[in-house]
Amino acid sequence: MEEQRPRAVQLSKGVNAVCQTHAMSSDKEEVMGLLVGYMRDDCLVIVDCIQLPRNEKHPDRVEIASEQLVEAMEEVEGMKRWWPPSLPEPRLVGWYHSHPHITVLPSAVDVSTQKRYEQMSSAWVGLIFGVFNHHIPRASDRYQLIAFVANPDYDTQMADVYSRQHSSDQSEEEACAEIKPYVLLPISYCNEDHEPIKARVLRRLCNLPEVVKMEARQSLDQLSDVSGESSASLRHALAYCNFINEHVCINALPIYNSRQSQKKKDAISLL
Ligand SMILES: [Zn+2]
Repeated sequence: MEEQRPRAVQLSKGVNAVCQTHAMSSDKEEVMGLLVGYMRDDCLVIVDCIQLPRNEKHPDRVEIASEQLVEAMEEVEGMKRWWPPSLPEPRLVGWYHSHPHITVLPSAVDVSTQKRYEQMSSAWVGLIFGVFNHHIPRASDRYQLIAFVANPDYDTQMADVYSRQHSSDQSEEEACAEIKPYVLLPISYCNEDHEPIKARVLRRLCNLPEVVKMEARQSLDQLSDVSGESSASLRHALAYCNFINEHVCINALPIYNSRQSQKKKDAISLL
């Protein structure tokens, strides 16, 4: 039986915070990661994410290596050991990436990447975090988020346009422009109630400096001559790394530590 395609997305606020913080880590190149969750009716519920270090950095696309996908699948398998039994089993349900300075809408490359994943699993969604887009009326940087899947009827809809008689009001070109190769899904936000998942997502946030640091170190290793543009982007990565380290130390770590000590107290009280 073919699996149902999602018609809506429910995103935990914790995952949204992790992905958004990750997206803000680079205003030069796109960042990426995978999404973990499950299907509930026709809604895809996203409860966790796995940040992926980029082997190569590009301003207009991201590439997930097959080894990264396999590692992520193994990680999700491991999560089943402690997963709350009241929930459907966790699985990889999508990917996310950032669009710094450009439109939040998916590019042709994004749609073909999404299509490739949908061949493996139809319960698969793409999230795009639009960051560093200056919004002139508000004089501030605008943050946007979209969820998309490939449009399964795209070819039929296009063929339909070509076979149709066009009125003088709309040309063939205009009619084609209205048909998109993707479908945007509505997103709703939720709070995570399950303690182990909540703690996991918080650890993802704490792990962000490590991901950024690893990439900065790789860039440093790749640069034989640190100068010009490369030097600026490296300085940006390191400055961000310092910033996020402070942010995590001040905000996230105390919450995480208090959770851990509460867990220890609970364990002792059970003895
Ligand atoms: Zn993209």
